[in-house]
Amino acid sequence: MKIKTSVFVKSSANNEQCPKPDRPEYAFIGRSNVGKSSLINALTERRDLAKTSSKPGKTQVINHFLINDSWYLVDLPGYGYAKVSQTDRKAWGEMINNYLFQRENLICTFVLIDSRIEPQKVDLEFMEKLGSNGVPFALIFTKTDKLTATQLQNHLSDYKKKLLETWDELPLLFITSSVSKQGRLDVLKQIDEWNQL
Ligand code: GDP
Repeated sequence: MKIKTSVFVKSSANNEQCPKPDRPEYAFIGRSNVGKSSLINALTERRDLAKTSSKPGKTQVINHFLINDSWYLVDLPGYGYAKVSQTDRKAWGEMINNYLFQRENLICTFVLIDSRIEPQKVDLEFMEKLGSNGVPFALIFTKTDKLTATQLQNHLSDYKKKLLETWDELPLLFITSSVSKQGRLDVLKQIDEWNQL
């Protein structure tokens, strides 16, 4: 898929504020610093469409971007910030759960994983939440340019083993780097396929 236009539509604090669910939608989420903004910018070939702004203390919002006038790319506020208060964590959980469980046009949630680090409890728990609530998800491994091919293969096989302790099948996996642009077309091709359904 060629990205012709990518336009920021709005920031929403809850589902009611989100754009009308009239187009297929794909959400991106992950732990802070996983490379989500960089990936969104790489996918859309824009330098600063997604801002590295959702830092603790800032309002947590759902950001909608309209791509090629035909589908929504959604930047969800990340998880795993050490410094977030209990109250903010709870508010995040409510907003995210409402979005993930109720957004009717949500086709897939891409969970971003830093390919350099071993499986993290917070990520695995997040996937379990998605799975047990029937929310389709895929995994995107980020920052692969920081690893050698062998390191990457080892990490991936460890990760898959860990996933198979919980799941009968592996989710779709994408291997990406926002620096080398590895995997960019794979993700876009998958979205394109889903858009045709
Ligand atoms: P976010 O907090 O998940 O939105 O993460 P950012 O996109 O802001 O990235 C966090 C840090 O990782 C920044 O310093 C980025 O430059 C760096 N980064 C993100 N993606 C990549 C990547 O694919 N390769 C490398 N080498 N660095 C990356």
